[in-house]
Parts: sequence; C-alpha cells; structure tokens
Amino acid sequence: MNPIEIGNALKMNRPVLGNDVGIGLFRLVRLVAMEDILGTGASAVTYYAGKKLGQSLGLTHLDQFLELCNQLKIGLISIPTMTDDEIHVDVCECVTCAGMAPVGRVLCHFEGGLIAGAVGSILKKDFQAREVTCIGGLGDASCGFDLVARPAR
Ligand SMILES: [Zn+2]
Repeated sequence: MNPIEIGNALKMNRPVLGNDVGIGLFRLVRLVAMEDILGTGASAVTYYAGKKLGQSLGLTHLDQFLELCNQLKIGLISIPTMTDDEIHVDVCECVTCAGMAPVGRVLCHFEGGLIAGAVGSILKKDFQAREVTCIGGLGDASCGFDLVARPAR
C-alpha cells in the first residue's frame, strides 16, 4: 500500500463546498469513532500518529510550527515557557475539545503527539508531551502540554 503523502493530502479541490469543514466532522472521527473501535487504546494511537506526523513535517523553526497550527486551525498555540529543562505549550480554542462539557480526563493526545514530534524534530530531541490541562476534558482555560526530553538511547 502506498503511503499518502502530506502534500497530496493537503491538495484540495472543492469548488462548491470550499476547503473548510466544520470541526464536528473531525471530532466525530477523533473522539467518537476512534474510541469506539480502539477504546482506551485510541489515546496512544492518536498520540503516536500525531508524533510521527509532527516529525515528518520537515520543520526547522518553531515559528514554522506555530504558523502551521494557525493555518490548520488546530488552535491558538503559544509557548509560554521554554528553558533548557522545561517547555510548556498552551493551546486555546483547541480543535479537539474546546466547548465540550468536561468528561473528567484529558482528550488531546493527537495534539500532544504533534507538538512533541514537531518541537522535537526542530530542537533535535526526543520529547514526550504530557497534557496537564484540557479545555473539554477537564474544564480548563487551555489545553496545556509539558514537554519532557527523554534520555538519548
Ligand atoms: Zn484538551
């Protein structure tokens, strides 16, 4: 099976409907259908899917990643903390969960993986992202991710 290339997937031709869809479709796939098939495993699968995707974007600067998040409307993303030992990323208006009634657990594993993969490939480290706040999962103001560098193997 040939892999679908990122550039190809982002080619669009919908003269009548246009290139945007409501985020309802994304959420039904990501939160309802994936969890229905994969159960609790959906978190890990979407995390690693996001991480691989983030690593394969070919980004070299953090600004490019922030710009891509804006373009794809993943959310309003910022990096309020960035030191040698600590990186924290905040996502407001998160595509996966903003506006939902809190469900008692974090939901944004795809975003966490994407952030870990992209920031890791830019900074040439292997990061693990832990979601510590979540808008639709826990009722927080933003989805917040702590990035922890894993020791080089
Ligand atoms: Zn979240």
